[in-house]
Amino acid sequence: MTHIAFIGLGNMGLPMVENLLKAHHALTVFDVDSDAVEKAVARGALAAPSNQEASAGAEMVITMLPNGNIVRRVYEETGGLFDIVAPETLLIDCSTIASADAVALANKARERNLFMLDAPVSGGTRGAQDATLSFMVGGDTAAVKRARPILLAMGKAIFHLGANGSGQLAKICNNMMCAILMAGTAEVLALGVCNGLDPRMLTEIMRKSTGNNFALEHWNPWPGIDEGAPASRGFAGGFQVGLMIKDLGLAAEIARTGKAAIPIGATAQNVFQLHALGRTENSVLDMSSIQRLYYPGLTG
Ligand code: NAD
Repeated sequence: MTHIAFIGLGNMGLPMVENLLKAHHALTVFDVDSDAVEKAVARGALAAPSNQEASAGAEMVITMLPNGNIVRRVYEETGGLFDIVAPETLLIDCSTIASADAVALANKARERNLFMLDAPVSGGTRGAQDATLSFMVGGDTAAVKRARPILLAMGKAIFHLGANGSGQLAKICNNMMCAILMAGTAEVLALGVCNGLDPRMLTEIMRKSTGNNFALEHWNPWPGIDEGAPASRGFAGGFQVGLMIKDLGLAAEIARTGKAAIPIGATAQNVFQLHALGRTENSVLDMSSIQRLYYPGLTG
């Protein structure tokens, strides 16, 4: 049993905590949202009144937070995690943030005799619930070895890509692909439906044809086709449009180094941005709500 502090109990963090509890680890948790903390306590975690108090005395700290600014603040602010955890604590950031931020954090951790990994995930909320996440890990081999049994309680694949920051690079590549596939799938379904085709039949055909992809098969953006997908519950939960826009921004930042061009990724970024600008609530809906941009008035 490992004493783990878990910070960030949102759509992903809460089911990840649940799986760590199922694996009999001791969890101390914090989230700025007290409802989220209550849900984790109901599942068997111990609540702490702050990030710092959750982490004091823990052997490992896992963060699952919305973006790089928040992650950096939680670790680096005066009296933040870097100041209060014991030497040799393993810090695992599972949030999706800029690779450069992950490198900066890991360097500061090293100066303090702490171990730090970037370990962003793919698999979405379903993967978090079913403990089938994939972890894309950047950091020292010894730290990865220490993290492995804990990560395997929440997922089934661990890819160690190399030094700190490389996990985030892989994650950002994956999410740009996910955005392109989701926007493309929504665009094609609307093209068919607007011209008289049945979305269910069109989905079936493409699932068996060259157009098949993850969005079509497991996260269908048309309501009612995949009963378990966010599209069938009003686009609630899942992976928020705002988080996808953040990740596409991270991809654009990488491309700005001039080593690669991302014209299709940039278009996807604009498509999601247009959707978010259409209605304030859109940015907290699941990314598959992009279907509404192509087919306004669609109810989930
Ligand atoms: P979320 O918004 O549902 O959860 C984030 C949680 O962090 C919220 O509960 C929020 O209250 C909490 N929080 C914010 N600031 C905090 C602070 N200072 N201290 C403590 N708690 C704080 O987001 P999510 O969907 O769970 O995603 C979390 C991270 O995982 C993001 O970086 C996202 O890009 C990434 N991710 C999400 C998915 C997905 O499908 N949702 C998949 C892969 C990766």
